[in-house]
Amino acid sequence: MKTKAAVLYRPNTPMVVETLDLQDPHEGEVLVKVAAAGVCHSDYHVMKGEWTTPLPVVLGHEGAGIVERVGPGVKNVKAGDHVVLNFRPNCGWCPHCVRGQPVLCAGSSTPRNEMFSGGSRLSRGGETVHHFARTSCFSQYTVVQESGAVPVRHDMPLDKAALIGCSVMTGVGAVINTAKVQAGSSVVVLGCGGVGLNCIQGAVLAGAGQIVAVDIKQNKLDYAREFGATDLINASNQNPVQAVLEITGGGADYAFEALGRAETIRQTYDSIRPGGMAVVVGMAPENDEVSINALSLPRNEKILMGSYYGSARPWIDLPRLVDLYMAGRLRVDELITRSYPLEEINDAYEALARGDGARSIIAFE
Ligand SMILES: [Zn+2]
Ligand SMILES: [Zn+2]
Repeated sequence: MKTKAAVLYRPNTPMVVETLDLQDPHEGEVLVKVAAAGVCHSDYHVMKGEWTTPLPVVLGHEGAGIVERVGPGVKNVKAGDHVVLNFRPNCGWCPHCVRGQPVLCAGSSTPRNEMFSGGSRLSRGGETVHHFARTSCFSQYTVVQESGAVPVRHDMPLDKAALIGCSVMTGVGAVINTAKVQAGSSVVVLGCGGVGLNCIQGAVLAGAGQIVAVDIKQNKLDYAREFGATDLINASNQNPVQAVLEITGGGADYAFEALGRAETIRQTYDSIRPGGMAVVVGMAPENDEVSINALSLPRNEKILMGSYYGSARPWIDLPRLVDLYMAGRLRVDELITRSYPLEEINDAYEALARGDGARSIIAFE
């Protein structure tokens, strides 16, 4: 079949919206008609050449849609299901999956630009077009693994469901699954974009006492306040670490970095109290390094850890987040500041680069 998709041919060039060939789903795969896809920063790393993945590629890893049909052997998803796309489909049987850490799944020997059984389902004029994160939802239709299409209730609006699939899961999950923030504790969030705002509302859900938001843009701090931040620090006109230490009386219990930058990772580590936990959620360029004072680790018993995709167990957590949204306990509408048609996807990424709004989405007819 044919699908209209946004194709990246070279870093630092605009994506080209064109018609591609899409194979039918193979064994264990699912064809999804995409309803909406989020404009997330991770795809932007590939556009800027900061992450390497084979090109040409159809990006997009935050999406939702409706199952069109399923390949042989698919048991848990059927045509007509409304699904949130899970960009870490997993095998179910490797040690990481069995341990309950499916985002670390090592059960497939193929790279993440290919399906589990190998190869791409996308092509143009006989030339391979690669997948991204086995999701590639900047396309009207996409083929994903069965475990990459998580059914959710039909009354969930699909544009909001798309954001559940990356930014909401990543931010809320970092707080609830990875750090397991305790009620009453103090939390700092550095970077108040799509993921950072979700760290803030994760902290609200966890019952955190003090929630300190740090950003250099006043519009993002205003969003942070709406999402439940109790204190705001504009890092463009003050040292954020000193400000956090003052506000929290010696350092926060937990701090979350939602930017993926060496400097702010260091600031996150410096913002926690002795025995506190610093969690890196933001995704940095591939070759960046971060340095911290070595002696501070044992002497202050600080915990520095990473959180990937909110330590999600997607088949449990994505439907759960949908339920929280439907119960009015999770803000997603407020995250979506603009919607673009696929043809204007390059404009959407220019707006992201400028730091406009919280999150925009690509809406498909
Ligand atoms: Zn993302
Ligand atoms: Zn696995």
